[in-house]
Amino acid sequence: METATKLVEIAKRLYDRNMNAALGGNVSIRLGDEIAITPAGINKGFMTEDDVVVVDMEGNKLRGNGSPSSEGKMHYEIYKARPDVNAIIHAHPPFAVGFALAHREIPDDVLPEATIVLGNVPCLPYMTPSTIELACEVAEGLAQRNAVLMANHGAIVVGRGLEEAYNRMELLEQTCMSVAYALVLGGVHHIPPAEMEFFVDNFGLKREG
Ligand code: 13P
Ligand code: ZN
Repeated sequence: METATKLVEIAKRLYDRNMNAALGGNVSIRLGDEIAITPAGINKGFMTEDDVVVVDMEGNKLRGNGSPSSEGKMHYEIYKARPDVNAIIHAHPPFAVGFALAHREIPDDVLPEATIVLGNVPCLPYMTPSTIELACEVAEGLAQRNAVLMANHGAIVVGRGLEEAYNRMELLEQTCMSVAYALVLGGVHHIPPAEMEFFVDNFGLKREG
């Protein structure tokens, strides 16, 4: 199955790029009214196509050997809330997790590419992993944006396809790394407000407050 091949490739890429370690993270793709998702509790850097699990929109297993990801509810709630989303990636990238530990958002006015691609990335309040409460909170957080941090846990991004979701996660982690370095060097200088208006006018950037 081509989908399973792509899911495994992206899971491996996340592991190889240090965005997941050990058993962390999960990846899914929507295929009509089915969802292909990584299994629970294995190292996704070493999974194979045989490990991919297929579920229905309620999370009932249709095919596959293991159990679907313990964070499946998070994926299913997002797909229900966002008809435009066909791929979801949850990961534990170390710099993004650093922001999640500090309960810090990633502002939308630090790097032009992140401004356009991610906008503001908030850090959602802590919720117990794998619960429906976390799933609903994350789905709500992603209603108007494509990336959020989960306090004391990790990051989650969505996309129209897996490559788009992957690029969002990679950019999110690189942005967090750059901001962290800037903080070490004395602080971040923000993009000027007039320039941010340019992004609002030309790239449809939505700003809060
Ligand atoms: P799963 O292996 O069950 O997908 O869990 C990994 C994870 O990151 C939990 O938050
Ligand atoms: Zn996690």
